[in-house]
Amino acid sequence: MAARVAPSQSTQRTRHAPEPNSHLGSVLDTLREPESLGLPSGDGKLKQPVRAVGFDLDDTLCVYMPVAHQARQQILKQYVVPRVNLPLETVEQHYRTAFKSILEELHDERWYPLYLREGHPTRTETFRRMLHSLNLPDEALAEQISREYAALREQMLHLHEEALEVLHALRGRYPLFVITNGPAYEQRRELQTLGIEDLFDIIAIEGEVGIGKPHKPIFEFVQRQLGVPPEQILFVGNSWEHDVRGALGVGWQAAWINRDNLPHPHPDSPVPVLTNLRQLLERL
Ligand SMILES: [Mg+2]
Repeated sequence: MAARVAPSQSTQRTRHAPEPNSHLGSVLDTLREPESLGLPSGDGKLKQPVRAVGFDLDDTLCVYMPVAHQARQQILKQYVVPRVNLPLETVEQHYRTAFKSILEELHDERWYPLYLREGHPTRTETFRRMLHSLNLPDEALAEQISREYAALREQMLHLHEEALEVLHALRGRYPLFVITNGPAYEQRRELQTLGIEDLFDIIAIEGEVGIGKPHKPIFEFVQRQLGVPPEQILFVGNSWEHDVRGALGVGWQAAWINRDNLPHPHPDSPVPVLTNLRQLLERL
């Protein structure tokens, strides 16, 4: 799996310290069993006027985590399970452990510059460590699995069913932008594969900007280009910690998309909660 991280200024960590981040944080969230609390949509209102609208990409506009999980399972089942003669779930546990170990090192000098360019080195290292812990040290196999997993994930990647309709409805009414964490190569390619790159006036990718959400510089990078007061910019994302908190941190408005009824981290917050992007059209 591509490892995606942004350092956290709010926790006063250095750029090279291991820390949670929007993408890897989201990945780790999917490794847990989410509790469904059946929360209603938030009744927070947007303050008018809104003069620009932006979106997170993975699991906001497109289905990413479920696809990544499915692609990984398929690849592990095909290449690893028969070699180690262990159940897929056991192999998956080894993967998770390897993934967490890479996550802890991702902002080290060794990995972060590579990671900003493309996800292949950290993805391959994750599989290498997984194979090693399964007593199957095989560099060539790690390389092969990494490439095939990335290719399969790309092949399976798709937009949420309402995303295109909503983007087209907003386009022309507002400048549109996307802010996505992750490597330059993978995130740019995702936008192209999904066929939505041309729908945005501004695209901010962690790998291209050099820093990711929730840190201010990537939001400010967009704001400078928009030339719109911060309180008139709306950002929509599925990560409370990185999308919502990040946007609020620079004085923007935010909406949280919570398609899976995850527990609300701040139930008293006035930030609107959406269960699909169509609800955004009713609020603008
Ligand atoms: Mg996301």
